[in-house]
Amino acid sequence: MLKNVLIIEDEVKVSEVIKAYLEKEGYQVWCVTSGLKGIELFGKIDFKLVILDLLLPDIDGEEVCRVLRKMSDVYIFMLTAKVALTDKIEGLNAGADEYLTKPCSPRELTARVNSLFRRFDSSVPIIFISKDGLLTIDYNKRAVKLKGQEIPFTPNEFDILYTIAKNKGRVVNREQLIEQVFDISFEGSDRTIDVHIKNIRKKIEEDTRNPQYILTVKKFGYKFGGDD
Ligand code: CA
Repeated sequence: MLKNVLIIEDEVKVSEVIKAYLEKEGYQVWCVTSGLKGIELFGKIDFKLVILDLLLPDIDGEEVCRVLRKMSDVYIFMLTAKVALTDKIEGLNAGADEYLTKPCSPRELTARVNSLFRRFDSSVPIIFISKDGLLTIDYNKRAVKLKGQEIPFTPNEFDILYTIAKNKGRVVNREQLIEQVFDISFEGSDRTIDVHIKNIRKKIEEDTRNPQYILTVKKFGYKFGGDD
């Protein structure tokens, strides 16, 4: 699916951080620093989401929002340093779908973007199946089944298994798992990941000393067992 995102924000530092986070999640991101440039680019490229700053050097974010609304029903997240409730209502009246106050955590923003795209996507099943066909990981339902039987997973365990599975054939290291799964304020160690892996293996592997689904790649990390 098309995952194009437009960021209209005059603070380049802010947009670059958001861009980096979103690109890591597989989005295609364009950044512009003024409202007019944003409207111009919006006319040329098919965007699914616009992240829009309220205070721009040329025209107000609200005005940009109204213009984009006339052009399409694109999703719009409004960013603003203002916190007053009246501003919030004004932003929503202009047609923004979500309203985020700055400074906003890029992680929270990314989570909101992911959940928005998940809603677009929910009709498309994202399911990973092990090579032997016995293990299925259903992203939309956040469910893991072994031999047709659903296995209870904690949210962290699910995210770890899903991250390893979606990188099929590639090694995922512990730092990547920590980044993908935990909050940025995560203060645990690599050991925490190892403990989770151990618990996941207990749930899905027939022989935890000879795992078939989560393979250890010594000194590097983990890999999904199956079609390479
Ligand atoms: Ca601004």
